[in-house]
Amino acid sequence: MANLCAPEGIGELQYQMVKELYPYCRSITGDGVRATLRAIGKKIDLQIHEVPTGTKVLDWQIPKEWNIRDAYIKDPEGRKIVDFNKSNLHVLNYSAPVNTKVSLEELKQHLYSIPEKPDLIPYRTSYYKEAWGFCLTHNQLESLKPGIYEVFIDATLKDGALTYGECFIPGASDTEVLLSAHVCHPSLANDNLSGIALLSYLARYLGEHALRYSYRILFAPGTIGSITWLARNAEKVPRIRHGLIVSCVGDGGGPTYKRSRQGNAEIDQAVEYVLGRQFSSPVVQDFSPYGYDERNYCSPGYNLAVGLLERSKYGEFPEYHTSADNLEFVRPEYLEQSYRAVVEIVNIIESNRRYRNLMPHGEPQLGKRGLYDQTGGANEKKDRQMAVLWVLNQSDGSMSLLDIARKSGLPFQYISDAASQIQAAGLAEEVADVRL
Ligand code: ZN
Repeated sequence: MANLCAPEGIGELQYQMVKELYPYCRSITGDGVRATLRAIGKKIDLQIHEVPTGTKVLDWQIPKEWNIRDAYIKDPEGRKIVDFNKSNLHVLNYSAPVNTKVSLEELKQHLYSIPEKPDLIPYRTSYYKEAWGFCLTHNQLESLKPGIYEVFIDATLKDGALTYGECFIPGASDTEVLLSAHVCHPSLANDNLSGIALLSYLARYLGEHALRYSYRILFAPGTIGSITWLARNAEKVPRIRHGLIVSCVGDGGGPTYKRSRQGNAEIDQAVEYVLGRQFSSPVVQDFSPYGYDERNYCSPGYNLAVGLLERSKYGEFPEYHTSADNLEFVRPEYLEQSYRAVVEIVNIIESNRRYRNLMPHGEPQLGKRGLYDQTGGANEKKDRQMAVLWVLNQSDGSMSLLDIARKSGLPFQYISDAASQIQAAGLAEEVADVRL
């Protein structure tokens, strides 16, 4: 079994991808998403799906497609004071087109700002209610003088399609691991782009290795994207055994893990174990029905073992959904840490197994079987020796290697290596996994 590790320079590679995709004006549909998926498709084998407007997906319907070319506000003197070309956050995402002149009073009905963060432009959307609007800093809003303003949004809302991307990496088993990132946010670096970059590089890396599970990696707009995938793939859903939503993984906070609705699934245990070893103060929270696409994967009709991995939690970091979630907020070193954590989570679910001790009456004589000859420095030798004893003692067919690692406090890799040695020495057999 491949023991995956983080490739050299993986933080910088992810960061460069975030930087490349940052300017695109993404939304839940439209050419910004297509351009993003094309960029991902240059790195990995990505199948791109187009689902026409009006298609019924579970309780929803694919909306009209939104595309935008330009937008601005001109002040009474004719100066462009808000310009989509300077920041795509300036336009209410999914805004209807408009080309008119309005008084300041009327204009203000269509302006969004954050009074508590007067220097930041908010990110706002209006997907399912037709409206037009602009987002700007509160300082700028306060400085607007009475008069007649020209408002122009060159956008289209018409029949088209919802676009999502899917990368499938076949493993030895048809049983699947689902990894998913949303692709619908415009120029926001942590919320959305960090997850896209991490999963793109992870997919490329997984594709180079022999794997136990098959991996399905989805790049889809938030909420409606996962609903669309679920509606179109009813026959694949039962194959999903583990899943992880990856979002906001490029900042230095957290990490934060939201458990699956099941609460103690193998993925929950694996993530908690890895974060506990790699970070000083990870936060683990129970499932709640608000957030990203886990709300769909974990809806009661599916109840999939899908958790949400983030650094700072959505909605709680000050830069969230503002112009401060930018290329300075996300750093290569944090992206690298997050990548390492996800790779280790994959290592664990790939290697987690159950064994049965074939000589369970008394401790078997290890010396004559070469099981006392552990390699490594003094501490490692001692820990690896302990790992052999733990695996022998706990392998009654019900305890998994991850259970044993958690109980013993030893590195999973030592436990897994010890199990292989014990098996090779004829002291244990693997218990067949009926779901694989
Ligand atoms: Zn968001």
